[in-house]
Amino acid sequence: MKSVWETGAFHRTPHLAVIGGGITGLFTALFHKRAFPHHHVLVLERGAFPSGASVKNAGFACFGSPSELLTDMEREGEERALQRVEERWLGLQELRSELGDDRIGFEPTGGHEVFHASDPLYTLVAERFDALNADLLPILGSKAFHWDDQGIATKGLSGVDRMVRTGLEGALDSGSLMAELLRKAISEGVSFRSSADVVSMEEAEGRVDLRLADGTRILAPRVVVATNGYSHRLVPDSGIRPARGQVLLTHPVPGLKLRGTFHYEEGYYYFRDLGGAVLLGGGRNLDPEGETTDKDGTSLVIQQRLERLLREVIIPDQAFSVAQRWSGVMGFHSTGKDPLIERHGERIVIAAGLSGMGVAIGIRVARKAAALVAE
Ligand SMILES: Cc1cc2nc3c(=O)[nH]c(=O)nc-3n(C[C@H](O)[C@H](O)[C@H](O)COP(=O)(O)OP(=O)(O)OC[C@H]3O[C@@H](n4cnc5c(N)ncnc54)[C@H](O)[C@@H]3O)c2cc1C
Repeated sequence: MKSVWETGAFHRTPHLAVIGGGITGLFTALFHKRAFPHHHVLVLERGAFPSGASVKNAGFACFGSPSELLTDMEREGEERALQRVEERWLGLQELRSELGDDRIGFEPTGGHEVFHASDPLYTLVAERFDALNADLLPILGSKAFHWDDQGIATKGLSGVDRMVRTGLEGALDSGSLMAELLRKAISEGVSFRSSADVVSMEEAEGRVDLRLADGTRILAPRVVVATNGYSHRLVPDSGIRPARGQVLLTHPVPGLKLRGTFHYEEGYYYFRDLGGAVLLGGGRNLDPEGETTDKDGTSLVIQQRLERLLREVIIPDQAFSVAQRWSGVMGFHSTGKDPLIERHGERIVIAAGLSGMGVAIGIRVARKAAALVAE
């Protein structure tokens, strides 16, 4: 039994309902609202706040490490791999100009990849280093990567032999980013409904019927599914599978030398400094099956490996204690590393599968999803 006031103010039928209030969903809603200012655009987020990968990630503002890019080129061909770099690069520029470096805590700390000289991936990178830089030049506008072996000691690292650095990457504060994006979306007229867990979605008779866990029913003429790693729950045949990533954060480490973002072992591990502490994540390769889940949680085997990495490579010979551990759920597209942005039926668009790169490409994915809705 709703009052006329509730029906008019809070339960209006939206022109567009966006399921999922992460970076993809919020930007999609914002872009649609800008294109159709008179539309009522409603974001349905099951958490009290955004609560997916967008607020669980490592805050790397990066376009890809040399070993990742060269491996992608070998597997998919140069053109496709370079297109993906361009998307990431453009996405980062757009994100920074849309929200502002200060507000997202962007710092041009530089990005790094460290290697053991015996690693076959190192051989690949060493052999193709100049060619890779030449390939990237037209996209990035300046030389991307430099060898920086001296930096290994200055950053306090140990047990690795070689390091590549790019000055074109940086780190940001994912919490500030999402808070600013939410503030901006609301200030431009997007409605955000928290604790709105969509449990079913059905397209019929010219509209999409959404049911929420609290029993609410919403009928919307257009819907965007931006639930990323949780997409299989609403769209079982989407081809998006969940992939959990585990993270730990140490307490501040006195005299920490580490500065910047780092990739290690094919990017299976990534670490950075954060407020004088170390944030470290990865290790999914240790238990691919166990980490193919959308359940939050950490596992002993992965957390122990992360701690060993701290002891042996990142802050050797320094006492540390862990302040916080968490996990986040990514979405991977079964057909490869590119996200899925397509129609699912006449009135539903799905935008998901941003893998480990949503900070960089989220804004671009959202722009494409909003354009598809508008068609
Ligand atoms: C540990 C970790 C580290 C990462 N590090 C980086 C990094 O350093 N740099 C980078 O570029 N990328 C990184 N990523 C990837 C990046 O965070 C994601 O690609 C990006 O956040 C995806 O954004 P999204 O909005 O599509 O999904 P999400 O942020 O996951 O948003 C989906 C939203 O949908 C909501 N939702 C789900 N189901 C429902 C439902 N049924 N009803 C209502 N709401 C629902 C969720 O609560 C969530 O808020 C990392 C990811 C993880 C997990």
